[in-house]
Amino acid sequence: MSQRVFNFCAGPCTLPLEALEEAQAEFVDFKGAGMSLIEMSHRAKEYDAVHQEALALLREVFGAPAEFEPLLIQGGATLQFAMIPLNLLTPGAKAGYVMSGSWAKKAFADAKPCGEVYEAWSGADEKFTRMPASDEIKVEPGTRYLHITSNETIGGIRFSAWPEVSVPLVADMSSEYFSRPIPWEKFDLVYGGAQKNLGPAGLAVVFICKSIVEGLNPNLSAYLRYGPHVDNQSLYNTPPMFSIWIMGKVLKWIKANGGLSAMEAAAEEKSALLYNVVEGSGGFYNSPVKASDRSQMNVVFTLSSDKLTAKFLAESNAAGLKNLKGHRSVGGCRASIYNAMPKAGVEALAKFMQEFQAANG
Ligand SMILES: *Cc1c(COP(=O)(O)O)cnc(C)c1O
Repeated sequence: MSQRVFNFCAGPCTLPLEALEEAQAEFVDFKGAGMSLIEMSHRAKEYDAVHQEALALLREVFGAPAEFEPLLIQGGATLQFAMIPLNLLTPGAKAGYVMSGSWAKKAFADAKPCGEVYEAWSGADEKFTRMPASDEIKVEPGTRYLHITSNETIGGIRFSAWPEVSVPLVADMSSEYFSRPIPWEKFDLVYGGAQKNLGPAGLAVVFICKSIVEGLNPNLSAYLRYGPHVDNQSLYNTPPMFSIWIMGKVLKWIKANGGLSAMEAAAEEKSALLYNVVEGSGGFYNSPVKASDRSQMNVVFTLSSDKLTAKFLAESNAAGLKNLKGHRSVGGCRASIYNAMPKAGVEALAKFMQEFQAANG
């Protein structure tokens, strides 16, 4: 077997080895069909079983109540930036956006051409280093929904407590999907790209409250409306079968490893290992973000100079700790430690950070 590295990439990202190996074993001849899954009709009984199981697992593992429907839609989280306002902002309605970082800005920019939207709070003046308290979020009358980015993948902040507001929440959970249970009663819609915690790129997973579907904007092309996806169990057109197949295996892995509460506990433990090294480094490493809002999935830290950062990245890479470079827009370092990152990988990084400090501090 080839050597697997510890891959800290922000997305696409490391996936459970068990899921990859299982897929490999099934790949060429899917369960005796004499062809692979990606070669058969999406109406074939073999694929249908995979599809229905993935939908059922999404619902079960995330603990979604019956009134929420899981949808598999191509176009990633990015298409949802447009689909959400296109569908929900019927005439007279507007939406507030919490501007918490790079992804919130993208969601807001894409919503602007689709309807009336406003900034309900912005962390821009503080360089997006924290999330707002509920009483800082200004919800205007006539607001249909408040959009939040529950975990900012690039800035490394998250809502540790969910906002208390008088309107339904819509959340982009891409980079912390299925790593914590959510209070469903607060949401009309939750979405995320699959490639950060759930599987290969190629789809967004959307949970929509069924009671809102009837009131959505009917004046859109079919694929852009949620209704046809709900009515056809995400088989309105050919779905990304490969991604859905692997996602089902990842969901089974999450379930077998204790489900969301175990993922949440592991995330807390793993992220604490790294934040403790940062805190204990006497300023050799720094976390730019407010302690209570630190992401448990994307641990962002800086070193004192660009030169030292480059050295850290080169040496960690050589040590088999891959993709620790911060996003090109912010620099520094970022360790993305999604569900499938084993604790051993985080321990190896923590040890490397301490040794690097000892040699260079
Ligand atoms: C990665 C990411 C996206 C974009 O996802 P795509 O599937 O590439 O469109 C959106 N929001 C957040 C928070 C992300 O981390």
